[in-house]
Amino acid sequence: MRCPVVLECWVVVIGAFLAACLPPTGANDPKARNLLLVTIDTLRADHLGVYGYERPTSPHLDEFAKDAVVFDAAHSSSSWTLPGIATLMTGLYTSTHGCWNGRSYLPALIPTLAEQLTGEGFDTGAVVSHVFLDPRYGLHQGFGMYDDELVSKTKRKSHLAVTSPQIADKAIGWLEARAEADMRPWFLWLHFFDPHRRYLAHEPADRYDGEIAFSDLHLGRILDRLDALGMRDATLVIVTSDHGEEFLEHGGTGHRSTLYQEVQRVPLVIRAPGIEPGRRGEAVSLADIAPTVLELLGVAPLDSIAGRSLVPSLRGEALPDRPVVAELGGNLVWSRSIIGGRWKLLVDYENERQQLFDLDSDPAEKRNLAESEPERVVELREQLQSEIARALKWQKAYGPTGALDLSPSDLEQLRELGYTEN
Ligand SMILES: [Zn+2]
Repeated sequence: MRCPVVLECWVVVIGAFLAACLPPTGANDPKARNLLLVTIDTLRADHLGVYGYERPTSPHLDEFAKDAVVFDAAHSSSSWTLPGIATLMTGLYTSTHGCWNGRSYLPALIPTLAEQLTGEGFDTGAVVSHVFLDPRYGLHQGFGMYDDELVSKTKRKSHLAVTSPQIADKAIGWLEARAEADMRPWFLWLHFFDPHRRYLAHEPADRYDGEIAFSDLHLGRILDRLDALGMRDATLVIVTSDHGEEFLEHGGTGHRSTLYQEVQRVPLVIRAPGIEPGRRGEAVSLADIAPTVLELLGVAPLDSIAGRSLVPSLRGEALPDRPVVAELGGNLVWSRSIIGGRWKLLVDYENERQQLFDLDSDPAEKRNLAESEPERVVELREQLQSEIARALKWQKAYGPTGALDLSPSDLEQLRELGYTEN
């Protein structure tokens, strides 16, 4: 009678093995309770290992991404910090939030992710390091703790300061305090600045890539600490950027001049409890992040949202069709882009020029197909107009946007960062 016993043992062993391999189901599904949102300024996706870069700029992010969903076609709503972060925090495009130029600020009436989470009882904190994250630009709205010491202390020389180690130290301190208290769910936003120009040399890599590797090192310290504190299984972690950087692909350098992919495309890596790791190819936007986060945390959505929740995509289902829009301007609107599927239309209002690119066959945007595909241009242009009409309608509902009074020293600082205001 030994046979059935042996068989039974094997059934138990195989059963245990299968249970260990299969994802947990039903009531045992792990759920995100906290949110760690990390933005790394001026971070091009294609300069990261996880996006195929050949240099070892991002070992910690690459390791983190193995347990996360990686979006291969994520896009900023513009090509510089203020509008990009305003979109991230509100789910709205620039035509609604109004952060067009260096004198703009986010109006207090516009609801933000931090306000929504604070209202739901979350403990909210931010550690930032960019002049455009100074509270006068309004992106601090809703945060219970908003640490801008790294901006206010360095003032005009902030672009020459190295800030990643301090951001990581402050973040780790904040997380440790939350672990001790362990009461309320929390939301921590960290903004790293080091890859922004001027690029400073760090061993062992050079300049821009070196700044990325340096930021990655300190990102790794934070992620390790999160694990060590036992917070990993309850924390949704998102790593992204506000925009990329040009290196002469279309004749320029820096950012806030164009809306080509080198400045519009950003990394987006989401590690969510209960979500299987993988890669996604659909075009998504920074505007999609707030609705995604709120759904994953089980919090009511914001009133008006240009983006859509990426939760279906995270679960491996199809996303509702929605084009991705980006806008760039100063006192006037300079240009807009719209991405629908593989196609991108770039409208340059200043030079009355339209460019159509097939991002699948021409990701570097070298062949303008506007003349050979006039119907596609018309279709995208109509979609763009309807998106902008909706955004402007909301803008009216939120009331007029104002302008900051910048001092000559403020303007000089923006010039040193590569921005010119007229
Ligand atoms: Zn930036």
